[in-house]
Amino acid sequence: MHLIELQDIFKTYHLGEVDVPVLKGITLNVDQGELVALMGASGSGKSTLMNILGCLDHPSSGKYWLDGEEVSGLSTDGRALIRNRKIGFVFQGFNLLPRTSALENVVMPLNYSSENLTERAGRQRATELLERVGLGDRMHHEPSQLSGGQQQRVAIARALVNRPRLLFADEPTGNLDSKTSKEILLMFQRLNQEEGLTVILVTHDGSIAQYARRTVRISDGLIVADAAGDAS
Ligand code: ADP
Ligand code: MG
Repeated sequence: MHLIELQDIFKTYHLGEVDVPVLKGITLNVDQGELVALMGASGSGKSTLMNILGCLDHPSSGKYWLDGEEVSGLSTDGRALIRNRKIGFVFQGFNLLPRTSALENVVMPLNYSSENLTERAGRQRATELLERVGLGDRMHHEPSQLSGGQQQRVAIARALVNRPRLLFADEPTGNLDSKTSKEILLMFQRLNQEEGLTVILVTHDGSIAQYARRTVRISDGLIVADAAGDAS
């Protein structure tokens, strides 16, 4: 069974009277443990596809099975449940809560989890994750007191706190310098290799594909290449 199975996915946005077709028939499988770069020019539909894969949005038509369960027809609440149980997200802009410590930022998603950890166990898990991303000495710093790379590492720890099987990173290095970008990409590689976490890196930046084991290229809402290694 594939972790992700997409069959002929279309997505059209409706802006008033105007239809904006964005995804035009995407069929794609991803297995547990893969590290995939989803590449394409700006505007090609990457984020739209990621939003569907990540159960943030639903397709206009087509089917999506995640972990064997058909999720394409779920309600907003049904998608939220799946996200909390199975999916983590990292975004270009880090999206951390301001004036809130790194530790509290990482603990936060546990409040929406069905796992019901005690507060103490939750803080313990968050502490371990911050140590794992190299921020053991920055737990009580607020985002404004951290560099961009450190903020992104907090965001990675936060994305992992509910122990997802699947991690999406949408332009995760878009706001970082090249040295820091490399550190963050190596961290995704390490999480993939050591934890077997399935990682999907969404980017327009061709140089990022070298960190992935498979590159899927999207152009104007269609997959135009899918190959092992760096297919740019
Ligand atoms: P990418 O992430 O590859 O840059 P997006 O998926 O964000 O591309 O956008 C693809 C196309 O869909 C763009 O033309 C964009 O303007 C359009 N689009 C994205 N989101 C919306 C929306 N909510 N409503 C209308 N059009 C949208
Ligand atoms: Mg995008």
